Order: sequence, then structure tokens, then C-alpha cells
Amino acid sequence: MSVTLEKIKEQVLKIGFRMASAGLVTGTWGNISARVPGEGLFVITPSGIPYDVMDKIDLVVVDGKGRVIEGERKPSTELMLHRAIYSAYAHAGAIVHTHSIYASALAVAGKNLPPILEDQVQLVGGAVPVTRYARAGTADLADAAVAALGQGNAVLLANHGLVGLGRTVEEAYQVCQVVEKAAQVYTFAKLIGHVAVIPPGDVAVLRESFLTSYGQQDETIERKV
Ligand SMILES: [Zn+2]
Repeated sequence: MSVTLEKIKEQVLKIGFRMASAGLVTGTWGNISARVPGEGLFVITPSGIPYDVMDKIDLVVVDGKGRVIEGERKPSTELMLHRAIYSAYAHAGAIVHTHSIYASALAVAGKNLPPILEDQVQLVGGAVPVTRYARAGTADLADAAVAALGQGNAVLLANHGLVGLGRTVEEAYQVCQVVEKAAQVYTFAKLIGHVAVIPPGDVAVLRESFLTSYGQQDETIERKV
């Protein structure tokens, strides 16, 4: 087994633990995957195993057709969703799917999340669209998510939850955290009164500067937990 694959599995486990600890999913719901660079494969979390007991051996490696290459566990029931996104979006290196409260509330209300906060537009690229309704675990849901995603990095699944994309598992998780926070702020702002959105020109500049010059541009920086 390659060092890269081992490292990716460790990252998936770490983010799974953090996602559950942060309350962005309940129980065993939600799922995470990450591409194995240059291999045409991705690692995905198994179906129905709690994140706090999940181990590397529980993770499943699948190919672009969704065939299990390594692992004894049944892959996540949203395998088709992950596969469809990787197939449609070459830039997606990882996918995190949560059932967080405020994002789910917007998804139930059938409301897009407009571009309201700077960290949101930097990470996501703009508004977060909501899909038409499609049942969990179906090819129809995969189609609906890809159709709604557009150029952004996040999509709300109607009556279900949130999907975030990133270059890494860490970034896909950050997308889900920031969208959940923005959904909460949006809900409160609506209660208070007027919601002001960030003008499109500024959205474009914020996104571009995030992609080209934000942070330390140093991939060796990694969280310990
Ligand atoms: Zn789900």
C-alpha cells in the first residue's frame, strides 16, 4: 500500500472524527471521500460505522466506476453521489457531506444561500444552490447535485443536508463549516430584517485572492487533531 493512500486514509479518519465531534452529523450519518492522486481511485467512509470507532481498515477504496478495490466494508450509501461529483469536477480532491442544522433548514425551505459572508465566498466561490428533491442514496440525487453545483464548491441537498468540495479533505470540511456558519448567520439576518449580499465583482475578487494568495501557501502546515 502506498504512503499516499495511507496518508489520505488518516486524513479522512481525522476529519470524520472532527465532523462528528462538532455536531455537523448525528450518529453514523454523513460521509467523506478523497481522491488518491494519479490512481483514478478514491477512499470513502463505510456505511453505518460510528466515526469515533472507525479505523483505517474500515475505509473502502473504490475506482471511478464505483467498484471496490480494497476494503471489506460496504461503502457509504452515497457512493454514487461522490462518484458523480469526481467525474464531473476534476478540481474536486475531496468531498465532505454533512447533515448540519442550519444548512439543512435552508435545504428544507428550498432556499439558496446567497453570497453574504467573505469567508463563504472565498472558500465556496459564491452562493450555495439547493437541489431539487431526490431520495438519499439514489443516482437521481447524484444527478441533481451535479446539476445544481455549477462552478461552486458546495450544494444543499433538498430535505437532506450539505455537500462541500475541496482540494483536500481539510478544505472540503472547512467549506462545510463555513457554509453551516453562513446559513446560521443568514437565518438570523432574515429574522432581524434585510439581508445584504456581497456584490458580484467583489465576490470574484475575494475568490481569486483566496485561490492565489491567501494563507502561507505551505502544504506542510497541518492540524495535529
Ligand atoms: Zn446524507
